[in-house]
Amino acid sequence: MDLYFDNAATTRLSEKALAAYIDTAENCPGNPSSVHREGIKARRKLDEERERTASLMGIDPSSLFYTSGATESIAAVFSSLLLTTPGKVIISKIEHEAAASWLPVLRQHGWKTAELGARGGFVTPEALKAELTPDTKLVAVMAVNNVTGAIQPIEELVKTVREYEKTGKRHIFFFSDSVQALGKTEYNIEALGIDGASFSGHKINGPRGIGMLYLRNPSSFRPLAPAGGQERGKRGGTENLPAVSALRAAVEEWLPDAEENRKRIATIREKVVSALCDMGMKILSPEKCSPYIISFSSPLPSEVFTRMLSDKGVCVSSGSACSNNAKGEGEKILTAMGIKPRDAAGAIRISFCNDTTEEEAGRLVGIIREAADGR
Ligand code: PLP
Repeated sequence: MDLYFDNAATTRLSEKALAAYIDTAENCPGNPSSVHREGIKARRKLDEERERTASLMGIDPSSLFYTSGATESIAAVFSSLLLTTPGKVIISKIEHEAAASWLPVLRQHGWKTAELGARGGFVTPEALKAELTPDTKLVAVMAVNNVTGAIQPIEELVKTVREYEKTGKRHIFFFSDSVQALGKTEYNIEALGIDGASFSGHKINGPRGIGMLYLRNPSSFRPLAPAGGQERGKRGGTENLPAVSALRAAVEEWLPDAEENRKRIATIREKVVSALCDMGMKILSPEKCSPYIISFSSPLPSEVFTRMLSDKGVCVSSGSACSNNAKGEGEKILTAMGIKPRDAAGAIRISFCNDTTEEEAGRLVGIIREAADGR
């Protein structure tokens, strides 16, 4: 297998997650909505998995909803706005396309939108305060940026919103896409005081196609498509129970030892950063950053450099985040941070996982040096 350093795009399914998937698939074949014995057994299993996962995340199980991934969780929140009278939505300029792509849709339906800049990598409470208006209904700022790893000051941003709310009567929904934050940075939903958050299983060694939506106050949430009423009416569609079990197993592996793992990965990251600096590469990630992500500028266009590394058996991402489909997304984000277009054009993202070893990181550095020297 290639040296894999694209864990912010996706991680490998862990053995425990796979075992949990198989166990539930084999032993709980029923549909949780069915009233017969197999259905009841599946429903119990779903409830139990939700309770275990929520408890690991330090939240109430009633606030946790399963979806097909973060994209759907985000879509659930933004699309629900279409059922209400138009107002204003404020998001950051560094959001993932899963959120940013909702802005034109909302504008088409009469919503006002504002995008907050993030010079230096961070959204500021001052910038947010300047955009808050009496008709603001939703603020969305991601917890950790997927291109640079920048950890956003969510607690302060939430405080700014709550202060503003005191001047009017409306509650403003604070949403934080937390895909790159869970387990990978210090992250406590309750302490942040956010109203909603999105997560994807495959970013933490769980399966693809399973995600979570956190809703602090689900009773006030009206989805655009409740369909068959599953997930207590908030997300229609038959629950992917084996994947729910696998996700629980992944969360169980990530969260209890998260701090220790972060420290170990941070040490590996420091060594890689220092080697990149020695090679004269510019680090694009800011200081306050996830230990799992490094963004740096290579001397060549990022797609060329990524391909050169790939030919040498190394997988990294060409700064444009997790997809080839949304080309330029990474550059857009880096430019919003104030990175020079020339540096953004050469951006490469290295992303680690808990199973990354020092030896692998050493090999990565050696191969980057070779590629940069044109060998
Ligand atoms: N949000 C962020 C910050 C991400 O990094 C990603 C995926 O890379 C997503 C949302 C979308 O996640 P998914 O493709 O699993 O729905």
